[in-house]
Amino acid sequence: MKEGKKDGPSPERHPDTKVVTGGRDPASYHGFVNPPVYHASTVLYPSAEDFLAHRARYQYGRRGTPTTEALERALQELEGPRCAGVALLPSGLAAISAALLSVLKAGDNLLVTDSAYGPTRTFCDQILSRFGVTTTYYDPLIGGGIAKLFQPSTRAVLIESPGSLSFEIQDVEAIAEAAHGKGAVVLMDNTWATPLYFRPLDFGVDLSIQAGTKYIGGHSDVMLGTVSANDSTVATLKNTVGVNGWCVGPDDMYLGQRGLRTLAVRLDRHYRSGVAVAQWLERRPEVLRLIHPAFASHPGHALWKRDFTGASGLFSVVLKPVPQQTVYAFLDALELFGIGASWGGYESLAIPFDCTKVRTATRWAPGGPTVRFHIGLEAVEDLLADLERGFAAFAAATRG
Ligand SMILES: *Cc1c(COP(=O)(O)O)cnc(C)c1O
Repeated sequence: MKEGKKDGPSPERHPDTKVVTGGRDPASYHGFVNPPVYHASTVLYPSAEDFLAHRARYQYGRRGTPTTEALERALQELEGPRCAGVALLPSGLAAISAALLSVLKAGDNLLVTDSAYGPTRTFCDQILSRFGVTTTYYDPLIGGGIAKLFQPSTRAVLIESPGSLSFEIQDVEAIAEAAHGKGAVVLMDNTWATPLYFRPLDFGVDLSIQAGTKYIGGHSDVMLGTVSANDSTVATLKNTVGVNGWCVGPDDMYLGQRGLRTLAVRLDRHYRSGVAVAQWLERRPEVLRLIHPAFASHPGHALWKRDFTGASGLFSVVLKPVPQQTVYAFLDALELFGIGASWGGYESLAIPFDCTKVRTATRWAPGGPTVRFHIGLEAVEDLLADLERGFAAFAAATRG
């Protein structure tokens, strides 16, 4: 097998290359391009002494197999040189809860962005509270001003940028600097951008979380979560995941790895098609406002431009005020856009949403009904024709 020359450090490869090469080792697997899928619990030891001394490269299926390592290594490379290790969890939400549990203890306070993914809030409010951890929600646009929210007990800050319904862009660097000044750990849900368009650890984040279910899997056929840690957090992360007994099934890890290989080309298409559809929607008379960070009309556009290298296919629009039934008529008439939770797969989705009752630190008052779109890999012209069909039903409902 061909090996790179080993003299001197090789320059960091382009992310498009890393998703193709990461975690692969054909020489160890008879030349086969892909690492095999290990279905495994028991690992046999050569002797009783070896067993008692845990003398083995792999000790037990739950603690990791070559399949686990292949995906972890691929993700670690993608996160950049500050990433010291990755943990895999059975869902994105499990990755969030595992990351939080790895840094928090009874008596601690946690700061969470008011724009956070709903189930993240539920975990903080229902589970962390039972273990004596208090959560304070903060304005996602607070930036370095977050310093004033710290109590002596504040141990961690959770960022999610952009929010996956409302798309506020957070000043990650300023928040991380303030948090580190107070001795707190910084966690970020980076599901929207993936490390291809934003590398949180480069901006001071200590633990970067992804719902691998979304763009990494990419085909709506797997539940997966990932946590990438820097030097300061990797040991406690790995320990927390290991001691709790959390692990992912081998076929699901393999699907994650398989999805990763095409992540760069898929994301590029989601980005370009997303911008094209958003542009079209922004000009529609039924649309009051587009909420897409890659557009100059977005309040966080300058920050997005400063920090991100691309946008994925997820954005929202605010419609002009109409009865909810009109919005439902629009959504129900769509044929290519499915109505359903999650996103990041190859297919387009559209859902109604409302943040008004969820928020506690900020007011969400968009001025009309809101719809979130995920732009999949279909041809843009067909998606626009589908949206035309939706707006025809919208018009009929308005007249009716
Ligand atoms: C979907 C999602 C999650 C949770 O991922 P699951 O794999 O569905 O548990 C977490 N964060 C964000 C931003 C998400 O969109």
